[in-house]
Amino acid sequence: MDPTLVVLLYSSLSAGAAVLGGGPFVFRKRLPVEQIGWANALAAGMMLGAAYVLLIAGLPRHALPLAAGAILGIGFVWWTHVAAGTAELSLNRLDDPGPAYGYQVLLANSLHSGSEGIAIGAAMALSLPFGIFMALAIAVHNIPEATVLCASLTARGVSAANAAGLAVAANVSQVFLAIVTFAIVGAAPGVLPWALGFAVGALIQLVMAELLPESYRQAGHRTIALVAIAAMGMVVLLRTFAP
Ligand SMILES: [Zn+2]
Repeated sequence: MDPTLVVLLYSSLSAGAAVLGGGPFVFRKRLPVEQIGWANALAAGMMLGAAYVLLIAGLPRHALPLAAGAILGIGFVWWTHVAAGTAELSLNRLDDPGPAYGYQVLLANSLHSGSEGIAIGAAMALSLPFGIFMALAIAVHNIPEATVLCASLTARGVSAANAAGLAVAANVSQVFLAIVTFAIVGAAPGVLPWALGFAVGALIQLVMAELLPESYRQAGHRTIALVAIAAMGMVVLLRTFAP
């Protein structure tokens, strides 16, 4: 199969996996707040695992451009959140009735998943099997992340089916940026360590500034740390067995 089609296929699978995150809301209207915290911690841990394996893949050969790319990634996530007005946004305020809040959460999720698209595209450019591993890891992490988003949307009266659909739509940026990153690195291979570094920096910044502070408030420090570390360890462990 053409490599670009492989990127399209797996990044679409990853984006589409978010539909499963709406599952719990078919059976119940609300989830206990601790469970939303666990979902956040699970997604955060998997993102840390993804950042770690990207770092290990790029570091031995290109330490300096990778570090510079990471600084760009951190700066980009910080700037987009400030520019979009979502910098101090709590991503799962279930009792805020304002419609603007729903749109802000969708925008924040869309920006977030764009960075993960860069991670998939850069990993695919390094090697297709590594990229497929990355897309599958991001796919699994998209499920708890979508559950958090769906909790916010269904609390605003959006149906479970529409919330799940919006969670997938928020991941369109993931597919788009995976393909764009793969195409750019294909045309200019020197960009690869920058793209890897950018993804590492962006993922860690999102975890530290967006996901973990939320989840600590929801489910307590000890549980959240445990869930996040276990999820990170799982990704790193699976990577050692993957091709
Ligand atoms: Zn994420």
